[in-house]
Amino acid sequence: MGNEPHPPYQRPPLSKNYLTGDVDQESLYLKPRSVYENAGHQLRLGVRVEQIDRDSSTISLSDQSRLQYDRLVLATGSHLRHLNAPGADLNGIHYLHDIADSEVLREQLVAGKRLVVVGGGYIGLEVAASANKKGVNVTVLEAAERLMQRVTGPEISAFFYDKHRGAGVDVRLNTAVTGFEEGDQGHVAGVTLADGGTVPADIVLVSIGVIPETALAKGAGLPCDNGIIVDEFTRTEDPAILAIGDCTRHRNLFFEKMQRLESVANAVDQARTAAATLMGEEKPYDSVPWFWSNQYDVRLQMVGLSQNHDQRVVRGSPEDKGFAVFYLREGCVIAVDAVNLPLAFLVGKTLVQQRRTINPELLEDPDTELKSLVNGRLQS
Ligand SMILES: Cc1cc2nc3c(=O)[nH]c(=O)nc-3n(C[C@H](O)[C@H](O)[C@H](O)COP(=O)(O)OP(=O)(O)OC[C@H]3O[C@@H](n4cnc5c(N)ncnc54)[C@H](O)[C@@H]3O)c2cc1C
Repeated sequence: MGNEPHPPYQRPPLSKNYLTGDVDQESLYLKPRSVYENAGHQLRLGVRVEQIDRDSSTISLSDQSRLQYDRLVLATGSHLRHLNAPGADLNGIHYLHDIADSEVLREQLVAGKRLVVVGGGYIGLEVAASANKKGVNVTVLEAAERLMQRVTGPEISAFFYDKHRGAGVDVRLNTAVTGFEEGDQGHVAGVTLADGGTVPADIVLVSIGVIPETALAKGAGLPCDNGIIVDEFTRTEDPAILAIGDCTRHRNLFFEKMQRLESVANAVDQARTAAATLMGEEKPYDSVPWFWSNQYDVRLQMVGLSQNHDQRVVRGSPEDKGFAVFYLREGCVIAVDAVNLPLAFLVGKTLVQQRRTINPELLEDPDTELKSLVNGRLQS
């Protein structure tokens, strides 16, 4: 069941090559429709699940029908965080979450227009790079003191700051947005700032994060706290109901804590665990989180969670073709961010998985072969 009209699809290209028009819609689909048909799976699209009745094991749908279940998997994802500020309803203010949003925004990205991106996280920056490629004049407004602050360290933030500035994007840090100015016919004309200034705009993209979609689960009385609470087997409190992906806060065996993740890798890995659970196998979810982002000719690959590091080691330098930042805690590699350096990502993934303690000097030394730091085979 899905309330969007499309078969299941990948969202990452919506801010990248689908937004620039370099790939078509079919290429977004996870599988061709025939795969579902051949497997005997029914796809019911454009239908919203309104309610779960756990007593009768039924769900009510927006087309007024009901469906009985033996087991139910909630994969409801997340919804956009909206900016509540004066003028937020003006025409020309966009958000980006689904195919329709990307297509509407793509139409607007015409060379010479002025786009203001509110939020310097992954998605805002990817849109900035895509729009820049199309000749749009882009300004990025970020309230924090550096870009992607929530997910990465200062070296990577600084690298992307320079990359965007070098491409001609006006990136402004420590810049809080207070509202939007109205131009002709209810269209946005500018973004107002806390310092009293205004940035003129023809188009605005607000990209300030997502909120887990827990309404169905909450309505059914399932425990939710910044996500639907699930165990390492993706089970909710109700043994008949599982939950996976962006909508969950799960017990992460690797980090030994409750964790919510917004990434394709997490959604796919939790789906595998859920399938095993449904088949009566016990395969706990213990993956190390990983993410990626493409901006310009740069591929950023990140593995682990760097927030609690007490030491950073930079291998290579931003001036090189590629470089990586290793994040350590008590000598143990807990995360790696690699810029155009896929081997550092793969080695990092293995080191994080193996919870390896490494001499930081070896990590830093360009004469140390990265592969030699790993015991056994690299994690794919
Ligand atoms: C523009 C963009 C770029 C991204 N780039 C990256 C990237 O580069 N790398 C990366 O790892 N991640 C990226 N992500 C994040 C990634 O796409 C998500 O983490 C992933 O899609 C989560 O998958 P999911 O199945 O949990 O939820 P979703 O993909 O959000 O799917 C949930 C679906 O459930 C539907 N739904 C919700 N409630 C109901 C209901 N009651 N009834 C019926 N249907 C319902 C929703 O409409 C939606 O279609 C990006 C996301 C966006 C928006």
